[in-house]
Amino acid sequence: MPLTVHQFPCLEDNYGFLIRDEATGRTACIDTPDAGAILAELKRLDWGLDFILNTHWHPDHAGGNAEIQAATGAKSVGPKEVERLVPVDRVVAHGDQVELGETRFEVIDTGGHTLGHVTFYDAADAVAFVGDTLFALGCGRLFEGTAKQMWSSLQRLSALPDRTTVYCAHEYTASNARFALSVDDDPALQARARQVFDAREQGRPTVPTTMGLEKATNPFLRAPRLAARVGAGGRPDDEAFGAVRAAKDGFKG
Ligand code: ZN
Ligand code: FE
Repeated sequence: MPLTVHQFPCLEDNYGFLIRDEATGRTACIDTPDAGAILAELKRLDWGLDFILNTHWHPDHAGGNAEIQAATGAKSVGPKEVERLVPVDRVVAHGDQVELGETRFEVIDTGGHTLGHVTFYDAADAVAFVGDTLFALGCGRLFEGTAKQMWSSLQRLSALPDRTTVYCAHEYTASNARFALSVDDDPALQARARQVFDAREQGRPTVPTTMGLEKATNPFLRAPRLAARVGAGGRPDDEAFGAVRAAKDGFKG
């Protein structure tokens, strides 16, 4: 039951994702950073659009909903906080299932960046759309949630199989790598950072990533091991995570 994922850059550093369940031809877009760019890609692919799956309410994720729905008739699916910005046809929460033809997404609560932020996880294809919760070598800023909440969300993602392909919503990896190297001297991170800098110099995307690679090298997932480096030695894991997040917020590099 293959799922096709078509990824393309949008706005300054967002990624747009158009997906299709190959068994039935049903299609969806993950978030709506740029209605014009998404509609142009749909036209180029000669796809209709059945659903919009929103991860959270930020305008670079749901701001294109109205225009895309008007143009395609797609139904929107997302956490209730998206309704701060635009009405949602189907509000979903942790544990719900969303079907796209024969493809089944599990809705995982990954709040912290915003209060209501969800991940859409397709276990059969080992694919997760994580919005602004987890980035390659990074994680989302804590705009609305607490460090404890974000740490729980990241733990839920860490529980997914290592082979899971992780589609993050932004290309922030080079700057994340510079920060990661400032708090962690792990050889696997150093090797990955070199690959990231090379890829970006050549204009290649560093998204998607995998859960296994992030668990091995992402400083936010490795926070308990880095606690002493960020002045949180001996503190609980969520506080160590909060200290790494705070260090990143203040990082100039
Ligand atoms: Zn966001
Ligand atoms: Fe965003």
